[in-house]
Amino acid sequence: MRIILLGAPGSGKGTQSQRLAKKYRVPQVSSGDLLRDAVARATPLGVRAKAAMDAGELVSDDIVLALIRERLNKADARSGFILDGFPRNLAQAQTLSEMLAEIGKPIEAVVLMDIDSAVLMRRLTGRRSCARCGRLFNIYTSPPDASTPCADGGHQHELVQRPDDNEETIRNRLDVYTAQTRPLVEHYRACELLRTVNAEGEIDEVFKRLEQSLSDIPARVAVKRAVRRVAPRRTAGARRKSAAPRRTKSPRKKVRSRARVAARRRPSRKTTGTRKRGGTARRRTRSRR
Ligand code: AMP
Repeated sequence: MRIILLGAPGSGKGTQSQRLAKKYRVPQVSSGDLLRDAVARATPLGVRAKAAMDAGELVSDDIVLALIRERLNKADARSGFILDGFPRNLAQAQTLSEMLAEIGKPIEAVVLMDIDSAVLMRRLTGRRSCARCGRLFNIYTSPPDASTPCADGGHQHELVQRPDDNEETIRNRLDVYTAQTRPLVEHYRACELLRTVNAEGEIDEVFKRLEQSLSDIPARVAVKRAVRRVAPRRTAGARRKSAAPRRTKSPRKKVRSRARVAARRRPSRKTTGTRKRGGTARRRTRSRR
């Protein structure tokens, strides 16, 4: 399964792609997460990306593409991936399709998470994540409770807000989405890859709609292939046993092949100087002795 989740900031791409990744057993590849990680580790790319991220602007394409290329080259992305937050403009979309065409694994579907812009503001200002386990919450719509214990060893969730989730930066990010990312909807519609899902409502409801919209994508094929790769290789004999009954070799063929071997050896014995087999050659040898 190779898909893109497309949508405005706050449309639920992160939450839903985490769930899809779990269900289809392919990695969620979030350009935002890759960038935040690079910033936190103060890598050269992270240092360059920080200012644009703090302002809610798009980070330059060369930085994002370098991180995405590196991530998609990892072994776990071979059986598929869910792209979340990437591509964000037409140039990134173009480079992505070239990158995937090179390895013969194009995008199979692009899902637009459709949501009213008034709902987005509430979602974004209420968004929190757990600093320990990374799980996403919303203090208005999906706060942590007893049914969602922290995966990090029985602690309570430690909720933190992203620095770019303040109101001013959120407005800027929404404007950037409209100007630069929204045109991808028409682009992928023209490529006949686009499908739209209503992203409003409960997380479970939206997830069901997503599953429905992706039901024709051969996710299991990818999983089966991954399993087959790790399973011990069956020998030709074992494969034959489970298929049609084995055909025995004709004894004639064996005789013929022995004769051929003998014929190849004979000239080296310096008998007649001829490769011709049979009575004549043998008779000549005898008459010379
Ligand atoms: P996100 O977590 O997807 O909302 O991304 C957070 C921030 O990272 C964005 O506001 C951008 O500054 C930056 N970013 C994430 N993905 C991209 C991308 N594909 N292209 C450029 N900038 C990005």
